[in-house]
Amino acid sequence: MQAKAENRFDYTLMAPGPVNLHPKVREILAEPMIHHRTPEFDVILAQALKRLKTVFQTQEAVYIITSTGSGGMESLLVNTLSPGDSILVVNSGKFGERWAEMAKTYGVNVDEIKVTWGEVVSADTIDEKLKSKSYKAVLTQACETSTGVLHPIQKIGSVVKNYPGTILLVDAITALGAVQLPMDEWHIDGLVGGSQKAFMLPTGMSFVSFSKKAQALFAQSKIPKFYFDIRKEMAANAKGETFFSSNVTLIKALNFVLQEVEKTGLPQLFKSIQRRADYTAQMINLLGLSSYAQSKSASLTAVSLPASVDGQKLREILEKDFNVTVMGGQDQAKGKIIRIGHMGYLQDKDLQQLATALYQSLQRMNYTPPMSHDDYKNRLTQWLAQN
Ligand SMILES: *Cc1c(COP(=O)(O)O)cnc(C)c1O
Repeated sequence: MQAKAENRFDYTLMAPGPVNLHPKVREILAEPMIHHRTPEFDVILAQALKRLKTVFQTQEAVYIITSTGSGGMESLLVNTLSPGDSILVVNSGKFGERWAEMAKTYGVNVDEIKVTWGEVVSADTIDEKLKSKSYKAVLTQACETSTGVLHPIQKIGSVVKNYPGTILLVDAITALGAVQLPMDEWHIDGLVGGSQKAFMLPTGMSFVSFSKKAQALFAQSKIPKFYFDIRKEMAANAKGETFFSSNVTLIKALNFVLQEVEKTGLPQLFKSIQRRADYTAQMINLLGLSSYAQSKSASLTAVSLPASVDGQKLREILEKDFNVTVMGGQDQAKGKIIRIGHMGYLQDKDLQQLATALYQSLQRMNYTPPMSHDDYKNRLTQWLAQN
């Protein structure tokens, strides 16, 4: 990224994934390659697998899959379902749409609960649907990244647990590791996280875990599978290995991140991400803007823009002239919102950089914020000092 001389900042990635990397992660990624069948790596793998359980807050095993998050979503489906099964999919944005499509590809019958973009799904609606028809699974995002919404997973879990023939599969790729999501306590049957989101790593790994209720379906599941057959991974993990060649470099970095998370503690980690979200809320409020999502996830903020401001253009200016990357909107939200990520390695100076960049970019697009730049900066500096 080249910044214009007068606005030189360090490059900051504030997309809702991929995210800024911890300096130590960058160092680990540059280390010499080691083989995955070595005592040195055996220790790292064992530690990482064990530490993952802390983030999932589960007693069950967590598996590492060498694929992007979508592969993890696919793993949850192919190991539990069969062609001809009926499932209920919450479609509240791009990722809900993707999961529905994925299930259809495998011959699964999909009924959708269509949720208006920016709104949350109602657990009562899910309950009514489950009463009216027998479904093998309910699929939902925890945070729908295209809209920034956080769905009420705890409530949904307490609904689905009353249906012995139905499992709850949750795509938590921008939620797991960013917000509270205890798998066992909330009765989640299949949970997936992704490396380039809340796990603060490069793209290329996903993490999945299955409840006992979901594990009971492995033997019946008739969707053809090879790479994603979790029973092969279980057997390999039991021998201290991964089934295919281990993604050594990323797993080393993962182990470091998880060790840091352990040191910090989950509550403190969630608090620091929530603080960034709160700062951003303050920032957009002072700019006279508002959130697009009805119930916001701490992992990202989708900001509604005035009709006169094109979101695509705005994000281009932020990137080209201010060296900070945020995301625009997709499909129906294209041009209407920008999405600011709060996951990854971010410091107060990054938040301040974004605040200034956003103020000046908006001005450049002929939007006049309700207060002077100085007042705005002072208010935000004060906020940081007090929070
Ligand atoms: C990023 C993301 C995914 C996975 O995307 P990949 O590109 O496959 O890593 C899935 N679901 C949600 C909610 C996401 O944010």
